[in-house]
Amino acid sequence: MSSPQIVWLRRDLRLADQPALHAASQAGPVIPVFVLDDDRAGDHAYGGASRVWLHHSLESLGNSFGGRRSQIVLRKGDAPQILAALADEFGAGAIHANRHYEPWWKKAEEELADALPEDCTLVLHDGNYLMPPGSVTTGSGDPYKIYSPFAKSMLDCLPPRDELPEPDIIHSPETWPGSDDLDEWSLLPTKPDWAGGIRNFWKFGEQAAHKRLDWWADEVGDYDEGRNLPSQDTTSRLSPHLHWGEITPVQVYHRLKDKRSSGWQTFLKEIIWRDYAQNVICQFPDYARDSYRDYDERTLWRNPNSGHLIQEELECWQKGMTGYPVVDAGMRQLWQTGWMHNRVRMICASFLVKHLLIDWRHGEQWYWDCLVDADYGNNGVNWQWISGTGVDSNMFSRIMAPLSQSEKFDAAGYIREYVPELADVDDDCIHDPPDDRRGDYPAKIIGHKEARERALQAYRDSKNG
Ligand SMILES: Cc1cc2nc3c(=O)[nH]c(=O)nc-3n(C[C@H](O)[C@H](O)[C@H](O)COP(=O)(O)OP(=O)(O)OC[C@H]3O[C@@H](n4cnc5c(N)ncnc54)[C@H](O)[C@@H]3O)c2cc1C
Repeated sequence: MSSPQIVWLRRDLRLADQPALHAASQAGPVIPVFVLDDDRAGDHAYGGASRVWLHHSLESLGNSFGGRRSQIVLRKGDAPQILAALADEFGAGAIHANRHYEPWWKKAEEELADALPEDCTLVLHDGNYLMPPGSVTTGSGDPYKIYSPFAKSMLDCLPPRDELPEPDIIHSPETWPGSDDLDEWSLLPTKPDWAGGIRNFWKFGEQAAHKRLDWWADEVGDYDEGRNLPSQDTTSRLSPHLHWGEITPVQVYHRLKDKRSSGWQTFLKEIIWRDYAQNVICQFPDYARDSYRDYDERTLWRNPNSGHLIQEELECWQKGMTGYPVVDAGMRQLWQTGWMHNRVRMICASFLVKHLLIDWRHGEQWYWDCLVDADYGNNGVNWQWISGTGVDSNMFSRIMAPLSQSEKFDAAGYIREYVPELADVDDDCIHDPPDDRRGDYPAKIIGHKEARERALQAYRDSKNG
C-alpha cells in the first residue's frame, strides 16, 4: 500500500473543490488533520464567534468524512510540530495543504517545510480564492494596490479554474492516529451560553453552504437594488461559509456564471473584493494591525485607555447604546447573530472612527471577536478603507451621516428587529426619535454636527502635526 498522505485542514472545511484533499486521495490513504493552534495568531487567535462556527463546521465535516468511512484527526498545539511528528510516526509521503495567507499561517507553512522528515514533502495547493493571490498583477508584474484596476484585471483573467469534484474514494490508513474529542476543546460557550442567537440565525457546514447558494441563485438578480437595504434578506450571507472554506468562490462563480443580470455582475465584484483583500495582505502582512497611511495618529485618535469617558463611549458602541438607532441595531445584530449587514458594518465602523474618534484597531478587534466571518484580510482592509488610513481608502474627511443613511436605506424594519425599545415608533421618526419617543432608549452620546466638526479638526491637526 502507498504511504499515507496527511491533509492539513484550516479554513477549507469541505470535501468538494478541495485541491489538497483531492490530490492526497489520488496519492494514497488519507489522514485529515485539524490542529487547534491557539497561540500562533496572537491578537488574531480565533474570536468567540469564530470558535462557535468552527465547532459546528468541524462537527459537520467530521460527519461527512464519517459517511466516507474516514475521519478528522483533531489535535491541539503547535501545528508544524504536531504535523511533522505525525508524518514521522505514520510514515507519511506528503502533507497536502491549501495555501493560507495570514502571516502566522505563512510562517507555519515555512516552519513545517523545515521540520518534515526527509522522505515527506509539503505540497501546497491553491483553493480558497477565485485566482491564486499574487497572480493578478499589472503589466509590469507588480501587485495592485488599488481595488478598481485589480478588479478590472481580474475580470480579464476570468473564468477561474474548473471546480474539483469530491474524491471518488478516500482510503483510510492501516492505523489511525489518536484524536482529541471536539467537545473537550470547549469552543462553545456554556456559562453563560451566549451562542443561541448564532445557532438560530445560521446553518453550518458544506451542505448548508450549498443550500444557501441554491437559494441565492434565484435571488442574485435583485442584488443591485437590494444589497444596501438592511431590513431585507437581499444579500447572499455566504460570508462565513466562504471564510471557513465550506464553499469556494470558484464553486459560486460556476453556479452563477450564466446569469445575465446586472445583479450577478455586481455580486461578482463583491466576491472580487475578497480576492483583493488577500492581495493586500500578501503585500502588507501586518495590514490588520498597522495603518498604511502616515497620519500623526497620536493626535488623531482619542485613546480609550487614557480616559474613563472614552472607554465608556467605546463600550456604548460595543453594546449598541449610542443613541443612534441604526448604529445600535447593527451592533446588536452583530452581538446576537455573529454577523452584520455590510451597509451597517460601514455605518458602525465610521461612527467609531469619525464620530467617536477612536482608533480603528479597537473596532477591528471587536468585529474580530464577534463576527462568525471574521477574516484577517477582509476585516483589516475594510476597517482601513472606512478609516481613511488604508492603501485604497475613503478619505478621512468623508464622514458618513448615520441618521440620513438610515433613512436613505430604509432601515426602519431592521431597527425594530434589533432595538425593541423602538418597536412602536413610527417610520417617520424611528431613524432619529425625539426625546419623548425614546422611552428607555438612550439619548445620543454625541450630536452629529459636533462630532463631524471635531473629526475634521482632528484630521487637520493630525496632518499638521
Ligand atoms: C468594517 C468592515 C469589516 C468587515 N469585516 C469583514 C470580515 O471580517 N469578513 C468578511 O468576510 N467580510 C467583512 N466585511 C465585508 C462585508 O461586510 C461582508 O463580507 C458582507 O457583509 C458579508 O455578507 P454577505 O455574505 O451577505 O455579502 P454579499 O453582499 O452577498 O457579498 C458576497 C461575498 O463577497 C465578499 N464581500 C462582500 N463585500 C466585501 C467587502 N467589502 N470586502 C471583502 N469581501 C467582501 C464576501 O465574501 C461576501 O460573502 C467587512 C466590511 C466592513 C465595512
